[in-house]
Amino acid sequence: MKMKKLEQLYEGKAKKVFLTDDPDVLIVDYKDDATAFNGLKKGTISGKGVVNNRMTNVVFQMLEKKGVPTHYVKELSDRETAVKKVEIVPLEVIIRNVAAGSFSKKLGVEEGTKLLTPTLEFSYKNDELGDPFINSYYALALGLATQEEIDTITKYAFQINEELKAYFAQVNMELIDFKIEFGRFHGQIILADEVSPDTCRLWDMDTHEKLDKDRFRRDLGGVEDAYQEVFKRLGI
Ligand code: ADP
Ligand code: UDP
Repeated sequence: MKMKKLEQLYEGKAKKVFLTDDPDVLIVDYKDDATAFNGLKKGTISGKGVVNNRMTNVVFQMLEKKGVPTHYVKELSDRETAVKKVEIVPLEVIIRNVAAGSFSKKLGVEEGTKLLTPTLEFSYKNDELGDPFINSYYALALGLATQEEIDTITKYAFQINEELKAYFAQVNMELIDFKIEFGRFHGQIILADEVSPDTCRLWDMDTHEKLDKDRFRRDLGGVEDAYQEVFKRLGI
């Protein structure tokens, strides 16, 4: 497959995105840069880009096998992957299995409390507004997605949750919550962006040790080690 890296299309907080000579294909390049609290806290997590690139690709290939379409095309190097160029649906889709983070704070539910059913919420993907919480009526009213797209996204998101929970459980990690993004590719909704310790809360099942970006957000120490531990456990 010919794939020439052309000019940079976008530099985000965690990844750079490049055009290629194929108009349907982009190259994403994962950085070690870390941000939290809508960019207020900045830092570097050495080796993070490699872990997130590899983990996303392994997870996306697993999800493809389970019937979830994704943007994955080909891993090009330890930080670079060719992906299908999508029009990102500007919704951050968050699924929760256990109370943590903003859910615990907002609702006064102790972190670690198991939820009776998984929840789904949307944030409007807009950095200037701080990714505000919205519901599907807002998404429809603002023209962010159609009802059909929201239904497809919802169905895939809950399926992805079941697949990921089982996948991480095999290596003794509990999936507390996670954020995913979808895009439109030739009219079809597919999973895009990444699934990594940046976007998932993962706790050791026995000790409840945090193995994700909360170690950076909350200055818990052992940030790099946590990413490497996830990498090692997944055997990727
Ligand atoms: P952010 O923009 O939030 O700082 P990143 O640093 O991760 O995030 O940048 C990656 C950007 O590329 C994100 O805006 C994401 O929505 C977008 N993106 C992810 N996958 C694709 C894709 N397949 N096609 C087009 N854009 C994508
Ligand atoms: N998340 C993310 N990007 C965001 C916001 C949240 O990847 O911009 C992930 C986060 O890592 C966690 C889940 O979504 O796994 C739920 O996050 P929460 O709403 O609790 O927000 P936080 O406490 O991270 O501010």
